[in-house]
Amino acid sequence: MSSTPDPHDFLDIDAELSGEERDIRDAVRGFAADQLAPHVAGWYESGQLPAAELAKGFGQLGLLGMHLEGYGCSGTSGIAYGIACRELEAVDSGLRSFVSVQGSLAMYAIHKWGSEDQKQEWLPKMAAGEALGCFGLTEPDAGSDPGSMRTRATRDGSDWVLNGSKMWITNGTVANVAVVWAQTDDGIRGFVVPTDTPGFTANEVKHKLSLRASLTAELVFEDLRLPESAVFPEVRGLRGPLSCLNEARYGILFGVVGAARACYESALEYTLTREQFGKPLAGFQLTQRKLADMIVEVNRAGLVALQIGRLKDSGKLHHNHVSFGKLANVRSAIEVARSARTLLGANGISLEYPVMRHMNNLETVLTYEGTEEMHALSLGQSVTGLSAFR
Ligand code: FAD
Repeated sequence: MSSTPDPHDFLDIDAELSGEERDIRDAVRGFAADQLAPHVAGWYESGQLPAAELAKGFGQLGLLGMHLEGYGCSGTSGIAYGIACRELEAVDSGLRSFVSVQGSLAMYAIHKWGSEDQKQEWLPKMAAGEALGCFGLTEPDAGSDPGSMRTRATRDGSDWVLNGSKMWITNGTVANVAVVWAQTDDGIRGFVVPTDTPGFTANEVKHKLSLRASLTAELVFEDLRLPESAVFPEVRGLRGPLSCLNEARYGILFGVVGAARACYESALEYTLTREQFGKPLAGFQLTQRKLADMIVEVNRAGLVALQIGRLKDSGKLHHNHVSFGKLANVRSAIEVARSARTLLGANGISLEYPVMRHMNNLETVLTYEGTEEMHALSLGQSVTGLSAFR
């Protein structure tokens, strides 16, 4: 006789992980429980993060650029990286964003497109958490359509001179290096910009109601002068930034499974202990309907992530697989979070419980790294062969 399914992993999905992947899961889960979970509500409420300290902790655990090879990176499987994102985002999407931006956007960009000198200079210290990176693509007037960006790099002798601004840049106020994408006479190109370069300013974005345990910035470049060696030598056009976004979206489609699981677990625990009309809320049919729907969404999203992880690790991943996963899993996580919030009643709106924090965070996750509509259009184009973006 088989045993009753585990309420926390109903379909026994983690049995599919390798021993190393399970070890990484346990290490990240332990670190998150000890070092992150006790503080996260405070960080969220204050809108501040101890970025340098967090970077060191993540670096010591080997999480920064963990799926990259060489230069001090751990070189793990894609699934292991995804599982790490899942365990971090079970605490908060902002903390997973911290690791995603460092590893999948800033480090991945340098690893994939950088010169050997750029890699040697930045990657080992970024992997160790001794230097932080950010990734500047979005602008005030260029979001879903990054090709319309206005930031421009022009030649002055062998130097480059950068002018323009970027908006909504995660870790922009604490970064030591910014990967900045700009128009040039030769198409869009990427630049590795030390943030202490004269002409670089980062202004904190305030008044956010979502992703508050994450630092967000406007970057401004005023006649910022860079040497020839600052540019990514080969890549031209949107292929450069889009390749990095694909990596980060991959982390998201695993990460949101963690956020959804945390909301479901919070609702399960709450409804088993809170009594109304003389019995636990969990004993009412309408509550069980909601819990059953949550189990379905959490496990379905977990299976989608695992399959996309397998495609990545076998070299068969297409960017439209990632669009599928981001669209499907963020949607599932939002449904779970909204339903969990109702089950907690008035407590559902309090920071004493994680649910509304996750719910608010997921509104950012729905929008960044390609909005739900952009991923729907990618899937539509994939199956029809017709582009409906313009
Ligand atoms: P818009 O592109 O203006 O879209 C607004 C709405 O219109 C959306 O619903 C969109 O889907 C819809 N829309 C647009 N075009 C179409 C169309 N053709 N058909 C149908 N609907 C359409 N960016 C970075 O570069 N680096 C970062 O580190 C970073 N971090 C972020 C952190 C946070 C907290 C947030 C909120 C954003 C971050 N972003 C970052 C920016 C993010 O990637 C953009 O917000 C996102 O790409 C959407 O762009 P937009 O906000 O300009 O929305």
